[in-house]
Amino acid sequence: MFQICDFDKCCGCGACENICPKQCIELQENEHGVKIPFINESMCINCGLCKQVCSQNSTVELREPTACYAARSKDDAQRLDSASGGVGYMLYKEFLQRSDAPVVCGVKFNESSVAVFKATNELDETEKFRGSKYVQAEIGELYTDIANALKTGHSVLLIALPCQVAGCLNFLKVKKIDNQRLYTVDLLCHGVSPQRYLTEQLEDMKNKHDWKSINLLTFRSNRRFRNFHFYVQATTKKGKKDAVCRYFAGDPYFFGFLRGVSLRESCYQCSFATRKRVADLTIGDFIGLGKMPSSTSLEENIPNPSLILCNTKKGEELLKLIGKNIYLYDRPIEEAVEGGSSLQKPFGRSNLRNEFLKLYPINGFIKTMDILTGNLLKKNEIKFGVKAIVKKAVYKLHMEKLVFILTNRSTR
Ligand SMILES: Cc1cc2nc3c(=O)[nH]c(=O)nc-3n(C[C@H](O)[C@H](O)[C@H](O)COP(=O)(O)OP(=O)(O)OC[C@H]3O[C@@H](n4cnc5c(N)ncnc54)[C@H](O)[C@@H]3O)c2cc1C
Repeated sequence: MFQICDFDKCCGCGACENICPKQCIELQENEHGVKIPFINESMCINCGLCKQVCSQNSTVELREPTACYAARSKDDAQRLDSASGGVGYMLYKEFLQRSDAPVVCGVKFNESSVAVFKATNELDETEKFRGSKYVQAEIGELYTDIANALKTGHSVLLIALPCQVAGCLNFLKVKKIDNQRLYTVDLLCHGVSPQRYLTEQLEDMKNKHDWKSINLLTFRSNRRFRNFHFYVQATTKKGKKDAVCRYFAGDPYFFGFLRGVSLRESCYQCSFATRKRVADLTIGDFIGLGKMPSSTSLEENIPNPSLILCNTKKGEELLKLIGKNIYLYDRPIEEAVEGGSSLQKPFGRSNLRNEFLKLYPINGFIKTMDILTGNLLKKNEIKFGVKAIVKKAVYKLHMEKLVFILTNRSTR
């Protein structure tokens, strides 16, 4: 069979599917539920564009960041549903104020809880982009849409994983499309799991809980007690509201993702997991903030801060755009690299990985994770449950104490 690149290295960016002039390439699931390009060879004209556009076959320019910041949106209400400091959403909001017909691209869950990229010029739509969907999102015809937007004079902001930004840049280069008006932001990336696993888990939950539809799905947010939780809101077949909230280590999908059991094979050898970046700006979590001395002191204990790396002049332009709406603290790049493993090397394979690959094609996701983890997830859930009860009780106690002090003060 004709192969564009080594299947284990294919990151599923979809550049080959987008560029094919005969539309004979389609990303389809293999036996592990991983989407890789399948080529209808009877339609193929051997033009070679798919090989040319593939970031695994060509070198993509990576740049050393010129500045590093800790950041947090000043809009606390909007930040609640963001993953960390709400910088992604702020970029969309300010970019859409530009006068050159701006279009922004991000990821939302569609009505079937499938993560998909979408291009829009409506601010309301970008609210659905907030928050990290820890799953590989469908690119569809995104690069073609971006190319058409650039050709017709629009400016475009793309926030995506580094391999997807590389896919887009390669696509535009091969198509010889001027990318002056394209602004790119890459996320620090731990890796992605295929959508297939998430869909299997949601189907299983639907059956067990008698759900008719899923209304909300999040992996983390800044809402109290919901950081790094698998959280689903649903409507049952009887029309009642239901919700499930699990600590990441108690949920099969989240556990597989975060522990490196069920990532895409290419993620374990990712060439973008380095301090040098492919996009104009990089955003992520600022892990280890405050551990190194800096010229600017942190005036407050910033909860869940975002990391911003500025990598190009266009990155500086983006920063200027959002500067007035975010708290920004100049930090040493080394501090970000020290804390952010995704800036050092690809995430490691779990010692359960090989077994997972053997078991999945026979048993499917839920049963495989069950066999691999035994009682571990249940134990983690109990451990978390107890911790959460204590945390809530301490919080309640503090609130009651505060109310008591305030009421006593006002009646004095
Ligand atoms: C798969 C994945 C792995 C990540 N791994 C790390 C990591 O190892 N270390 C780290 O520091 N940060 C990682 N991040 C980034 C982190 O989760 C936050 O997205 C980041 O801190 C920005 O938060 P925010 O509050 O500024 O963004 P928000 O305002 O919440 O905006 C989130 C942005 O992420 C985009 N997005 C959401 N899901 C996806 C997806 N599946 N594919 C592509 N884009 C998506 C949205 O379109 C939006 O632009 C990862 C994100 C994803 C999606």
